[in-house]
Formats: sequence, C-alpha cells, structure tokens
Amino acid sequence: MATDAHPLSRGARIKIWRPLRQILTVEFENCSFVLAEGGTIGVPVVFERERLARMKRHGTHNLKMIGVRDLRDINQTIFLHLIRERQPISRADIVKATGLQPGTVSAIVNRLIKEKLIYEGVEGPSSGGRPPKYLHVNAESAYVLAIDLGVKESIYAVSDFNGRILTQRSVLTEGDPEKFLRSLSREIHALVGTQYPRARVEAVGVSVPGLVDRAAGALIVSPNLGWRDVPVRALLEEELELPVYVENDANAAAFAELWYGPLDEVSARTLLCVLVVEGLGTGLIINGELHVGTSIGLGGFGHMTMDPKGLTCSCGRRGCWETFASDRATLDRYNRLAKPKRRVRTVTELIALAGKGDTAGLETLQLTARYLGEGIASLVHGLSPEVVVIGGQITGAWPIIGPIIEARIKSNYIVPPISFKVRPSSVLRPSLFGAIPIALQHCFGGGRNKGTNNVTVPQSSLNAARRIPARLS
Ligand SMILES: [Zn+2]
Repeated sequence: MATDAHPLSRGARIKIWRPLRQILTVEFENCSFVLAEGGTIGVPVVFERERLARMKRHGTHNLKMIGVRDLRDINQTIFLHLIRERQPISRADIVKATGLQPGTVSAIVNRLIKEKLIYEGVEGPSSGGRPPKYLHVNAESAYVLAIDLGVKESIYAVSDFNGRILTQRSVLTEGDPEKFLRSLSREIHALVGTQYPRARVEAVGVSVPGLVDRAAGALIVSPNLGWRDVPVRALLEEELELPVYVENDANAAAFAELWYGPLDEVSARTLLCVLVVEGLGTGLIINGELHVGTSIGLGGFGHMTMDPKGLTCSCGRRGCWETFASDRATLDRYNRLAKPKRRVRTVTELIALAGKGDTAGLETLQLTARYLGEGIASLVHGLSPEVVVIGGQITGAWPIIGPIIEARIKSNYIVPPISFKVRPSSVLRPSLFGAIPIALQHCFGGGRNKGTNNVTVPQSSLNAARRIPARLS
C-alpha cells in the first residue's frame, strides 16, 4: 500500500461507524487505530511508517496516546465504583466526589450510558435549574472472569457487574505453563457453561506475578513463578473464546483499589500499592493514570537494591527489597529464628502463631514491617502519593505491622509530608480482585460489541512457553 500518497496518512480524523473498525483494521493492516479521548466515533489514523518516522524525529514513543487511554479507563472504573456504591447519584454529586470538571464528568457518564453500563433513572428535586437525573449501574449488564496466577495456587472467580464475586475456586499452580493454563481453562469452561449464561460473560482479566507484554497479553518472565515467554492471552483466548486482558499482579492490586477502595479516596490521583506475596511488587497510579512505562510492563520497585551484599534475589541480583520484605523472606527469617525449630509454610500461619504468643513469630513480623517501611519511605519521598496501600497475607497482622511501617516512613522524612494515608488493601487478595476491573476495560469503548477475539496461536510461541530455573542468571 502506498501509504505516503494516501489521504489519511497525515493523521486526519475520520468518522468511522464502530462496526467498521474491525474491517478497517483488517484492510489497513499496517495502520494503527487509536480512539480519540472524548469521542467514540472519531479516530485519528496514523500510518505505521509515518508514526515510526515521527518517533525517530522526536525520539519518543507514542506515550501520549497510551496515557489518554489509560486515564479514560481508570476514570470509568472509578465512576462505576462510585455510582455502584452511591446509587442513585447525580452528575453533580460525581463532580463533588471526584473533583473533576463538570464537562469531563458528563463526557464519561455519557459514554457509560452509551455502553449500557449505567442508566438514567427518575429525576431528582430541582435546585433552581433543570432537575438532575439519577444514575444507576446496570447490574445485569455483564459477568466477567478473573484469574489470579499465583506461585503456589491460582484462583479464578466469576464476578457480576456490581463487583460481587459469585464463585471463587482455587487450583494448585503446577507443571508446564501451557498444560496448566489449558487445564485451568477447561475447568473454568465447565463451570461457566453449567452455572452462568455464557452469552453474558464478557471478558477475562488475568493477573500474573511478572513482567507483562501488555499489547501481546504475554508473560515475558516471572522469576517467582518460574515461567518465561508464555503467551497467556493467546492460550486462554483459544480455550475460552473470550477476550483476555493480562496485567502484572501489583498493577492489578492497584486497580482493585479503584474498584473496591474507600469512596473518600476517589479524588486521590496518586496511589502507591505494595503487593507482598511470594515476591514483592508495586503498582502506581500517578495523576489518575496507571503508570505502565513502556508497553512491556515494568517490574515495580521490588527489585530496588537495599543491600548490594545481601541475599541473592529471585531476579539473580543481590539484596533487592524483595529479599527483605516478601513473604518468602518473612518465612525464611522465621524458620531461622524459631527455637525450637518449627517450620511454617504461610504468613497467615505465622501470624496465628504470633497471636498465640510465639516470640520469634512476633519478632519476624516486626522486622518485615521495618523493611517494608524502609522501602516505602524512599518511594513516598520520591513519589509523594496521597495513599499508600499494602496488600498480601502480611496485612492480616496490621495491628502489629501498621504502626511500625508508618513510624518508619515518618522517621525518614526531612520535612513531614502534608498528608498521606497508609492502609491495608481493601480486599484480601487484591491481585484477584484487581483482575475484575481489568476485564471490565473490555466493556469500555465498545470492545464488547466486537464479538469474541479469537486468536490463532503460533506454534512457535507455544513452544516458547517453558519453565525457567527459579534463579535467573
Ligand atoms: Zn531482585
């Protein structure tokens, strides 16, 4: 195709009827289509050759476009959360709660109405002008599936549009990644097929403990899981015949706060989420956008060095934050400290022991809290978040660890911060619950009208799905 001569090659905006988008994508396979912020039918069309040339000229990636889409998705999630919890609610109430401009609120509300995710009910009392119409969530709109791939066990759940988990099951994460994902899919398929009207399951959100190629929906590497180059989306879409969205677990945990967090935080634009599991990851919302960096998801701050001579980390380097404060580090510490020797396998078990007066257990938790506080203090200094959320089993010991973490953060300040909040996550397994709003993204922007997104899995990429040694070299 002679792209330079084409009338659309200068990024012109054209009106495209939504069902045509897929056809156009097929027809102009070298083009990239990007939804315009605030518009559902206007799309800037940028041809790949021109886009690459522009990137070369400006030395930049297409970050602005990625940012706009992320911002929109996050606001829609926050709005749905707010409307769900406070329905019936007017546009003016949303303006008040979020601190956003009335025009922005109306644009997002109109999009949600158009997508049939919310609806306008009866008119409220007028305060002089036109009476406001109350908004409600359309609870019957959709079901979504959430999958949380964990190191020892994976959990899957079916959620309705009101954010309620209808079913939740867990399986051991074991064996070859491809075989595991296919067998997990078959189990989910059987459940959905028998218990839920399949036509109403819209999408699947998957949370994985590792680096994610968001565009391909693939897991690049997960040292803790021991997986490398696993085409998670392709495998699951082939088995489940539903659109699949893959996200890093700590980012998913940050998303969980948008969907389940306290309503008095909906106007907070910067949130740091520290997910403490087998490893340790962070998810960051900055100025109302999930920070994703480049298209390959970042690994968060779990691997920032705290002691260059420290223990070897799952990533192969020494003394990462993860080696001090992850669940694995906590359990190893206890198993070293406990006298007489007593092995515990989960942090929840350890918390129960500490609660019964086990001194080594209590000391272990206090040390982990100090290390968590140490790392968070550095991040809070640099990022100045309004809210810091900690997720994982360790939060079951919040009365012990909370005050230590907070004191550690504050003692490291040159000037005390004006105000910020440190709290445990709103849900027990935030990486699972965060996969729900991630799947809901499919319902934003008309994705649900496109039908299922079947993907042919190239054999070469399946062959690449293999376990890697626990330690990277
Ligand atoms: Zn590391």
